[in-house]
Amino acid sequence: MRTHYTSGLKDLEDGAEVTICGWIQDIRKLGNISFLILRDREGIAQVTLVKKSLGDEAYKRISNLNRESVICVSGILKKDTQSKLGLEVIPNKIDILNEAEAPLPMGVIDRVSVDIETRLNHRFIDLRRPEVLSLFRIESSLSRGIRETLEREGFIEIHTPKIIATATEGGTNLFRVKYFENDAFLVQSPQLYKQIMMAAGFDRVYEIAPAFRAEEHNTNRHLNEFVSIDIEMSFSTDEDAMNMLENVIYSSIDFIRRNNLKDLEILNLKVDLPERPFPRIKYDELLDYVNSKGIEMRFGDDFSSEALSVIGEKYRGFYFITRWPMEARAFYVMPFEDDPRYGRAFDLQFGEREITSGAQRNHIYSSLKENIKRKGLNPDDFSFYLEAFRYGMPPHAGWAIGLERYTMILTNSKNIREVTLFPRDRRRIVP
Ligand code: ATP
Repeated sequence: MRTHYTSGLKDLEDGAEVTICGWIQDIRKLGNISFLILRDREGIAQVTLVKKSLGDEAYKRISNLNRESVICVSGILKKDTQSKLGLEVIPNKIDILNEAEAPLPMGVIDRVSVDIETRLNHRFIDLRRPEVLSLFRIESSLSRGIRETLEREGFIEIHTPKIIATATEGGTNLFRVKYFENDAFLVQSPQLYKQIMMAAGFDRVYEIAPAFRAEEHNTNRHLNEFVSIDIEMSFSTDEDAMNMLENVIYSSIDFIRRNNLKDLEILNLKVDLPERPFPRIKYDELLDYVNSKGIEMRFGDDFSSEALSVIGEKYRGFYFITRWPMEARAFYVMPFEDDPRYGRAFDLQFGEREITSGAQRNHIYSSLKENIKRKGLNPDDFSFYLEAFRYGMPPHAGWAIGLERYTMILTNSKNIREVTLFPRDRRRIVP
């Protein structure tokens, strides 16, 4: 239907014939002439309606259309104009494709601030706002940048089941679903399956897919459904996995710096390339630091949000927390040979926020089985997983990035819902 996006008009010659399509953002009527602002995904353009040339009937009909109605305008581009936008389209034909009702549930460009609940209730309108669209363009580029890096590094994309019979790490945080006569669960993570793929000899795999967590608490950084970017790599240690993560973070940031200039400008964001290698700080060191700041925390505890905010004041950019106590991590983590109280697990943080957790995995059947028991779980529930460790399993490591968390951090968003199209949380499953 269209010949150009509004953003493409500036590259054309004066007098070019064009058809642009989009939403009526605004109409300013001045008697026999009206200025219509048409918005499409790429920007806005002025369409100048002249009564004399359109005819009374058409002029009246179009200049009285409700805001956000959808039209296509065919006409002549004029570049030498007094229009603020530096160009205008003089229409010779306007197709009204869809009339919007009035009043709108919320405004698109109005300066009045709308609360997040209203915005999410009418998300399709909220998403028409350029600065909201820019967040999602950046999110799209981040996953594309990550995907391209992983493809370059020889990873194979896989798709593992989202309906499962056994919990990944025990019973908490699981959504139960009816599966014919039986109960099943939605996956919290593709962890067990991506590890099985190492026994399958795929060597390097990745998956970008939803993960479901029945987190009870409503926070600004937790969703009940989020996009997990998972990798698993064979013949690799925790150090190899951290290096790959640095590479992925660096190149995805580089990707948005090259491809999202306009979005960064709309959002008034400056995103710097991080320095590599990222600092690697041992759990024990941070435990001491947190305690020295008067926050009570014992060996084996996970860092509370209070602890992380103190740490985040000291370490503002990307850094790894390494050498975790085994009791703080899942059963599949590989313990250190020199001191098995610690495991080869890591988290990638950005200031006070966690974006990734990963580890070298325990690929030794007997000790893995012991660790499952030590966590109070029943190895029989994991027999499909454990079997993969009995007939040739290479050493392997991997990690998972939360896509929304990552986007949230890079775009400086205060709430993870800002970077989630249709968030699922404790109170919301519609729209
Ligand atoms: P947190 O301690 O922040 O709740 P977690 O330790 O439960 O996270 P992991 O199981 O290690 O998280 O998941 C790996 C990554 O997935 C996290 O670093 C984060 O980026 C993302 N993630 C985990 N849970 C959620 C959630 N509920 N909502 C959004 N992203 C999440």
